Amino acid sequence: MNILLVEDERALSNAVKKILEQKGWYVDAVYDGAAAVDYAEGMEYQLIILDVMLPRLDGFEVLRTLRNDGVHTPILMLTARSTVPDKVAGLNAGADDYMTKPFDTEELLARVGALTRRTGEVVLDKIDYEDLSLNVKSAALRCGDESVQLSRKEFDVMKVFLYNPTMTITKDTLITNAWGIDSEATDNNVEVYVSFLRKKLRYLRSRVSIRTIQRIGYRLEVEAC
Ligand code: CA
Repeated sequence: MNILLVEDERALSNAVKKILEQKGWYVDAVYDGAAAVDYAEGMEYQLIILDVMLPRLDGFEVLRTLRNDGVHTPILMLTARSTVPDKVAGLNAGADDYMTKPFDTEELLARVGALTRRTGEVVLDKIDYEDLSLNVKSAALRCGDESVQLSRKEFDVMKVFLYNPTMTITKDTLITNAWGIDSEATDNNVEVYVSFLRKKLRYLRSRVSIRTIQRIGYRLEVEAC
């Protein structure tokens, strides 16, 4: 499961990210409202955790923008303000649930669980697409009877593709998701790992390949049976 975490307090963001990742969920962390809109509209998430007080666009503006733009991903609002008018404003603007800070780990997990069950999602230990199956615990990529072990970075890159199998993924998106928003990785790093993955896909004889979209990035392509 893919979660977008929007929280500008780095320490809290890191702590929440860690808790969710320990559950096997895949978390993208962004730190302002404008980035939240870009990510939420560019990738597929099963849940958005959204702080209210944020730089650039506040949480309510983010929420309204997403709902107006047709993004119906469940949204859990986070705020330090616990007053009733705020709760009403959040829910009216289209939030699915509301949690006031500080909260404990159990409460967070319970609410995340409730919201994601509502969408019919379950916590996956593998991601399937076409003839491929990526085990998120072991990082083994399987096709039919063949299986290869992915390195940590290959795994991170492959996950981005498999979670967004029909989308064109830019190199920047891959860098942000697989290396981190503050990383020094360049397009070159991406190209190297994509070439490693292509070799493994060929070895597996998968019908899925990674196609280069000139000057934009990559997209998965499926060969007809
Ligand atoms: Ca904040």
